Amino acid sequence: MNLGISATEFLSQVREGNVSVEEFVAETIDRIQKVEGKIHAYLTIDDKNALEKAKMIDKKIRNKEKVGSCLGMPISIKDNICTAGLKTTCASKMLENFIAPYDATVVSKLKTEDAIILGKVNLDEFAMGSTTEFSYFGPTKNPWNIEYVPGGSSGGSGVSVSALESLISLGSDTGGSVRSPSSFCSVVGLKPTYGLVSRYGLVSYANSIEQIGPVARTVEDVAFILNIISGLDAHDNTTLDKGNADYTKDLDAGVSGKKIGMIIQMTGDGIDKEVASATNKAISKFEDLGAECSSISLDAVEHSVAAYYTIASAEASSNLSRYDNLRYGFDFGTEGYEFKAYASKVRSNFGPEVTRRMLLGAFVLSTGYYGKYYLKAQKVRAMIKSQLDEAFKKVDLLIAPTMPILPFKIGEKIDDPLTLYLLDINTITANLSGIPAISVPFDISSSGLPIGIQLLANTLQENKLLQAAYALQQTTHLPKVPL
Ligand code: GLN
Repeated sequence: MNLGISATEFLSQVREGNVSVEEFVAETIDRIQKVEGKIHAYLTIDDKNALEKAKMIDKKIRNKEKVGSCLGMPISIKDNICTAGLKTTCASKMLENFIAPYDATVVSKLKTEDAIILGKVNLDEFAMGSTTEFSYFGPTKNPWNIEYVPGGSSGGSGVSVSALESLISLGSDTGGSVRSPSSFCSVVGLKPTYGLVSRYGLVSYANSIEQIGPVARTVEDVAFILNIISGLDAHDNTTLDKGNADYTKDLDAGVSGKKIGMIIQMTGDGIDKEVASATNKAISKFEDLGAECSSISLDAVEHSVAAYYTIASAEASSNLSRYDNLRYGFDFGTEGYEFKAYASKVRSNFGPEVTRRMLLGAFVLSTGYYGKYYLKAQKVRAMIKSQLDEAFKKVDLLIAPTMPILPFKIGEKIDDPLTLYLLDINTITANLSGIPAISVPFDISSSGLPIGIQLLANTLQENKLLQAAYALQQTTHLPKVPL
């Protein structure tokens, strides 16, 4: 059986009776068992329940009963999104055995549509990182070359979809975490407009900038899932009313007459040569399709990394203060400890990156430094938004490489946090401003590693964004994952 089909193809094959859900799910589980030892995308595999659910859905289909629109599509979920009955560890020792008592809104919406949750996938601890190396449970590896990082923090999401271990995955994107692994693993990843998708049940890292987003093999699949997971949610008062938006509508509308601006600050110094030439190639493809391309300067982008790490760390230090090992945690007795000594002992079990962020966050929020760092970062954030508002008066879409460089070797940059932070330069603008952005697989480097192109649109312009992404996707003929 071909496990490499898109979710959309899966739906039509099941509908036509060419594939049974049970067969597809069983083969996907076999595949997971075969490749997991090499790539380590999953932290929890719920194979028994998945197979049972698949049988039930087949039965419903046979009996012509009503079945949800996902028709038993196997999906993986990043392990910082709550799933009732299945562990949600955030790849941290602090939540090693935590089982959430409820489903995140996105998960319950997918379940209502008869998606099958195959399991939970790896991430950098509490989603802090760009490589999935900072997982307490060990790194996830890039299926295009298992010595290389898969991007992050939703590395398990990118890898499970790319390596045919799931049809779709949900990740979270605080500063690029859906788009980075999508780019490094040659799959499609969307960071929706802030508020379009409920964050209820997403374990908070930096809640004023993060969104849950789909990872899939095609733009059509991303649009299909976005239709399901988006919209108002009484549990999350930052959610927006999407009206009667249908993201799968007119995907083939094309880009003729559309104005696309290349962001100068995301394509200059420090960009890998092959990544730069892929970006130019993508721009000429758009021109061939009738788009008008130009260059746009957003000079506030130069300060975005500093602003992002100030704001994200500040929110992280506040959000993660709840982990005292009393309400959630691992097996560690309290006897003989004063509260403070106990808290500091157990909190030393956070990994190095999380610890760094909490310290930095506490510092930038402290009296005397608040104005100097946190407030200043908020000003940069406002500047970025107003420069984008101006840009979108001139162009419909923006374009830049998703990641400035190619995937690199596991361990190569792990001791160099600043270099790792700088890798987020092209992705964090969308988070700081709340606009939607997508990474589309576009090319493969001479060394056989994927290159993704990022498109950005104005707030709630997902339709326009997906149409352009679809147009770009149609110009590519990429090889399948070699694993
Ligand atoms: N690399 C960024 C960070 O470490 C983004 C992570 C994310 O989007 N969750 O904060």
